[in-house]
Amino acid sequence: MALNPTDLYDVRSLLSEEERAVQDTVARFTDERVLPIIGDCFDQGRFPKELIPEIASLGLLGSSLPEEYGCAGLNAVSYGLICQELERGDSGIRSFVSVQSSLCMYPIYAYGTEEQKRQWLPRMAAGEVIGCFGLTEPHGGSDPANMKTHARKDGGDWVINGAKMWITNGNLAQIAIVWAQTEDGIQGFIVPTDAPGFSAQEIHRKMSLRASVTSALFLDNVRVPEANRLPNVKGLKGPLGCLTQARYGITWGPIGAAIACFTEARDYAMERVLFDRPIAATQAVQLKLADMARRITLAQLLSLQLGRLKDAGTMQPTQVSLAKWNNVRMALDIAREARDILGGAGITTEHSPIRHALNLESVITYEGTETVHQLVVGREVTGINAF
Ligand SMILES: Cc1cc2nc3c(=O)[nH]c(=O)nc-3n(C[C@H](O)[C@H](O)[C@H](O)COP(=O)(O)OP(=O)(O)OC[C@H]3O[C@@H](n4cnc5c(N)ncnc54)[C@H](O)[C@@H]3O)c2cc1C
Repeated sequence: MALNPTDLYDVRSLLSEEERAVQDTVARFTDERVLPIIGDCFDQGRFPKELIPEIASLGLLGSSLPEEYGCAGLNAVSYGLICQELERGDSGIRSFVSVQSSLCMYPIYAYGTEEQKRQWLPRMAAGEVIGCFGLTEPHGGSDPANMKTHARKDGGDWVINGAKMWITNGNLAQIAIVWAQTEDGIQGFIVPTDAPGFSAQEIHRKMSLRASVTSALFLDNVRVPEANRLPNVKGLKGPLGCLTQARYGITWGPIGAAIACFTEARDYAMERVLFDRPIAATQAVQLKLADMARRITLAQLLSLQLGRLKDAGTMQPTQVSLAKWNNVRMALDIAREARDILGGAGITTEHSPIRHALNLESVITYEGTETVHQLVVGREVTGINAF
């Protein structure tokens, strides 16, 4: 029996019925709603906001959080499959969902009060309130401990000053989860984006993640009440805990991008006739396609096992680092190779590989650069911190 070229080890047979149903639903959404418009969105540098209500109605926002807060209550593997199928469309759509779910709803759920959860989570799950996550600052994202943004207690309020850089959803958001230094260490605050002194400036001229909103945030004496502080975490472990959630999803997303590129390159190679035969009949192209299939298979198995560990409650951040590093590198290499197989046609956004390749240049940098994740794994296997 012929194997499925995009699932050579039948990883799908390892999924539960519910997980398969989630994957099929999101795959249909990507095929019918994302793929027909995404090339134009990328060209125009436009995030397709019109998809938000449908993304919400499918239960894709905060999908792993409990139903009592209006969320879908799905397991970690399902969340991974959501990321994979969305990123088969575009990394920008997946980024929107990752930020809303893992970086904004998760900290409210994990570190917030019951009132904060009831106030925000149902409306965020419904897509009525969009969040952004402000951790990175202009002077260097890889070293978040060196945070300059600070919050000072003033009576019953907090007064926040600082700047954040490269913030996904910044100009879309109604609330920002802002991480700031305080006398008591780093703390998180829910900041309404219409608060006096808060401003967001969209970053233009991007060659990557063009179908995603990226912004700089400025906080100039922004005043929020004590009720907006996330009380249940202090220190860097607050934002890092959110990043572990998001990075877990990011290990799955690039598998989708890689599958899109591999499929397009393979189809093209079967059709493109040069020297009297399809280029897919040449050994050089078959080696490339076989290598793509091999690397996709390894990434699928890695993320599935990571998801099973997460669902069992035993997943470690180092394991997430290894998978983020491996899977994003895998997808970026495949996107570039697929672009090459398409020849000149590969340089336009008529075909997806160059768009995916450009997007993955962001994905390999954000949520911890490739080097940062390599150093995390290096620290684990040597016991020596080389940062
Ligand atoms: C499109 C996009 C969206 C983003 N969205 C968000 C968001 O929503 N919220 C948010 O808070 N941030 C966001 N980021 C920021 C992202 O997380 C940072 O860009 C990332 O952490 C890297 O920080 P930096 O850009 O300041 O690079 P730097 O930290 O300045 O790194 C520069 C280079 O130095 C290398 N380096 C760092 N440390 C070491 C070391 N010890 N040894 C050797 N090399 C090292 C890095 O690998 C990199 O190659 C986003 C970024 C992009 C591009």
